[in-house]
Formats: sequence, structure tokens, C-alpha cells
Amino acid sequence: MIKSTELSPPTSAQLDAKDRLAPYRDYFVEPEGGSVIAYLDGNSLGRPLRVTAANLAAFVQGEWGTSLIRSWDEKWMDEPTAVGDRLGEVVLGAAPGQSFIGDSTSVLLYKLLRAGLDGQPGRNQIVIDRDNFPTDRFIVEGIAAELDAEIVWIDPDPLTGVTAEDVGAVIGPRTAVVLLSHVAYRSGFLADAPTITSMVKAAGGLMMWDISHSIGAVPLELDAWGVDLAVGCTYKYLNGGPGAPALAYVNSSLLSSLRQPIWGWMGAADPFGMSANFEPAATVRRFITGTPPILAMQPLKDMTELIAEVGMDAIREKSIALTEHALALAEELLVPLGAEIASPRDPDRRGSHVSVNHPLFGEVTARLWEQGVIPDFRPPHGLRIGLSPLSTSFAEVQAGIQAIREVLVSLT
Ligand SMILES: *Cc1c(COP(=O)(O)O)cnc(C)c1O
Repeated sequence: MIKSTELSPPTSAQLDAKDRLAPYRDYFVEPEGGSVIAYLDGNSLGRPLRVTAANLAAFVQGEWGTSLIRSWDEKWMDEPTAVGDRLGEVVLGAAPGQSFIGDSTSVLLYKLLRAGLDGQPGRNQIVIDRDNFPTDRFIVEGIAAELDAEIVWIDPDPLTGVTAEDVGAVIGPRTAVVLLSHVAYRSGFLADAPTITSMVKAAGGLMMWDISHSIGAVPLELDAWGVDLAVGCTYKYLNGGPGAPALAYVNSSLLSSLRQPIWGWMGAADPFGMSANFEPAATVRRFITGTPPILAMQPLKDMTELIAEVGMDAIREKSIALTEHALALAEELLVPLGAEIASPRDPDRRGSHVSVNHPLFGEVTARLWEQGVIPDFRPPHGLRIGLSPLSTSFAEVQAGIQAIREVLVSLT
């Protein structure tokens, strides 16, 4: 009998051959002229779906070009919440009436964080970690400068990310809101959202998750976890296109009490009442400010429907297989050249990208882009390999990591 440890790991071709989701790669627009060998940055900008090109043309002709202004009455007024509800059902684990598509992630972070803070009288601390994405930290700094709020910083281990113990050590009677990333943008660390959320709530704080790197890649259960607030990008694993407007979630228990700071007519109880003073809508619409970006929210609908067809569990399964494959290849081909794995080894604690560090990776990435191998680079030394489950093959991962090795060898 052969012991499993004596079996060599499956090759990329074998993994692709038995991948049930492999056919979905053809649903995405093929880059022209064979100019892209490996796209490893779907975590920053997802590839467009073919159907999106057709649907956008039909939108211009029909809803916009033919129905014209009537489309606002017929459909568009409800579009931000209708798309939010569908996302809630397919990827967020959220019942209807709590989600909408709105501004950029940065602006939504501001609006929801301010609303949360204002809704917690007697508490003035915002908890965030120093490894969080810059915009999250900057928005918190801005709010603290604007109001009488204090920032409580967590300094996580870059590899293990923010743990429940880290959070437990800093929360207390003055905690207003805790803002953390569900998947860390640098290491790919996947935080223990259910445990951390219950701890924060037990301490009387509001829990806000930035789900930019998990929407569409990692199953979410916002309602079941008891999450208060969440925001996230739609141009990453939701393939919404450059600058696609972000998603916001406000737990129904908070809808009547929280008020966001930017009062605009589209968040008013009766937008067309042209009333003298602002009265917020009773629904999640109160977090909307101005005219919603209807055109920009079309493409993410296509990816949402594709995810509904495939199922988040199957997507997560492939995501884990891809990151395991990338880690094994990085171990074999890059670590001997002095690179260090900078992502969790435990798949249960990892999102859909892996990071590898080497002092030369800034230079390496620039050369890779020229040859159509596209990971991304995050200073000081991190090369990120983003693995969008429906558009990435195992062979592509291998081609990419081999190319990284070749460029690294040529520079050393
Ligand atoms: C990508 C990302 C953002 C981007 O915010 P924008 O306002 O869309 O530029 C914010 N937060 C996190 C955690 C991200 O990963």
C-alpha cells in the first residue's frame, strides 16, 4: 500500500482536469492577443464577464435610451436596495432591507462609522488595527480629528492577523465601534468574525466589518453572526468594474436609531416631497445621500447571478484549493530563493489571496507586468497573488509562480 505522504502532489493539469468550476473561466472576457499569461490580481480588479458587455449595451439602449427618465420611477429608485437585497441573499447571509449599493467603500466607511459613533452616547472609542487598509485607518483618523473620539489601536501579528484575544484586550465600557477587515488585504488572514462580533457586542460596542476582500470569495453570515455594520468593495471578487460603487449593510435592529452624517434628498423619507427640513427615510435608504450610480452598479449584478448559480460553498472550496496550490508552488519555487511566505498556512484562516515577501519583489512585479504576468505589489516587500475562484485556473497559478521565479533568478 502506498502511504499518502509518498504520493507526489497533483500537477496543475490534474487539478484543472478535475475542477468542476473550470468551465466558468470561459464566461470571462478573454484578454486580446494572448497578452495575459496569468492574471493574479482579481482581488484588486476582477475580470469582466462576457455577459456584462451585452447587458451594458442593452441597458444603454433600453432602460436608459428608450425608457429615459421614466426608468427612475419604473426601476432605478429601488435599484440600490434591490441589488443590495440580492447580494444579501447570495453572498452576505443577510435578510432583505439591510443592504444597499451606494458610494465608494471609503465614503460608506465614513457614513456608517459616524452613524455608529453618534449612536453610542457615552462611548467615544473607535477600535481599529494598524495593519488595516489605509483608507480604513485614514477615515478613522479623520473622524477622531473631527469629533471627540479616541482611536484605540490594535497591533496584530502580521501573520496571524487580529485575533479574538487582541480584541478582548482593548474593548470595554468606552468602546463605541470596532472596525476590522474580515480578510486582511496584506496577508490574506481571515478573522474569526463570529467570535469577535459576539465579544464586541457583549461589551456594548458596535461591530463593523470591512468585507472588501471577502464578498464573493468567502461565505458570509452577517445576520447569523450578529454583525452591526459592514461595508465592502464590489470591484474585487464581485467583478463590478473599476470604481464600481460599494456595498453597505446595516443590521435591521439599528435602522431606526442610526443617523448618517451626510443628509441628502435621496436619504429623505420623501425624496420628491421637496420638504423644508430633512426627515430620514425609515428604511435603509436613510443611508443613501444623493442620486445613486445606477449605471455603475450594472456589472456586479451579473457576477452576483453567476455566484448564485455556482454557490458560495463551491466557490470557497475552489478558492482554498487555489491558495493551497499557490502556497505549495511558492514553497517549492520561491522560498529557496530567499522569499518568505507571508500568509496563514491554515486554510480556515485564509481568504483568497496569498502574499510572499522578498526585497526584490517591487522590481520583479514591474517586469512581470510587462510580460503579462499580473500579481500586485504592496510595499515594502509583498507580492500578492490574488486567486479569483471562477476566473483562475491551476495552470495559470503555476505559470505565474514560475515566471516570478525566473524574473527573481535573473535579478539575483
Ligand atoms: C480595496 C479596499 C478598500 C478600497 O476602498 P475604495 O473606497 O473603494 O477605494 C477599502 N478597504 C479595504 C479593506 C479594501 O481592501
